[in-house]
Amino acid sequence: MRILLVEDETRLADALEQMLKKQGYFVDVAGDGSAGQDMAETGIYGVIILDRNLPGIEGVEILKHLRAKRVATPVIFLTAKDTVSNRVEGLDAGADDYLIKPFSKDELLARVRALARRSENLQISDTLCVASLRLDTRSCEVSIGTEKTKLTATETQLLELLMRNKGQVLTKEQIIDRIWGFDKDVEIKIVELYIYYLRKKSPLRKAARPSAQSGELATA
Ligand code: CA
Repeated sequence: MRILLVEDETRLADALEQMLKKQGYFVDVAGDGSAGQDMAETGIYGVIILDRNLPGIEGVEILKHLRAKRVATPVIFLTAKDTVSNRVEGLDAGADDYLIKPFSKDELLARVRALARRSENLQISDTLCVASLRLDTRSCEVSIGTEKTKLTATETQLLELLMRNKGQVLTKEQIIDRIWGFDKDVEIKIVELYIYYLRKKSPLRKAARPSAQSGELATA
């Protein structure tokens, strides 16, 4: 499962990222509200951990925006002050849970597990469809009609990103941020390489061409 952590305190963000990765989660970190909102909107996350006070866009505003856009990803809201109004504000905006800082790492993990289960029960679109193209993100299978093929984990993430953002322009930098995280060692060419891999998969070669330029799934 992929988790989005939106937290501007670098030390806390680093510690949480390491802890979640140790548990086997894929983790993306956004250090400000605008990047966080952008990434959360893709809908590719199983759980979002969202800080309340953020530079750029406040956590509450991000939550309201996501819910207005019908992004149903479970959100754990982090608040610095334990006041009734803070908690109510977060829950009213659409948070599924909240934690008061400072919190224990074990408690955060327990809550992530609880929301991950809910996420699985909700089956947040394990199967995505765009025209006749069908992607099962759990089994990493892509199909058109009866023709099926397996994708690698990264190919699945890339195709999922493109399908969830159909009709929207995604730059290669955005694709890198969202799939490879903010690993500075990743070169831009990797996006072209993976688009090439996807195009070579037979159902995709036949009926749809994902484009890194346009983020569209154009029917050939
Ligand atoms: Ca903060």
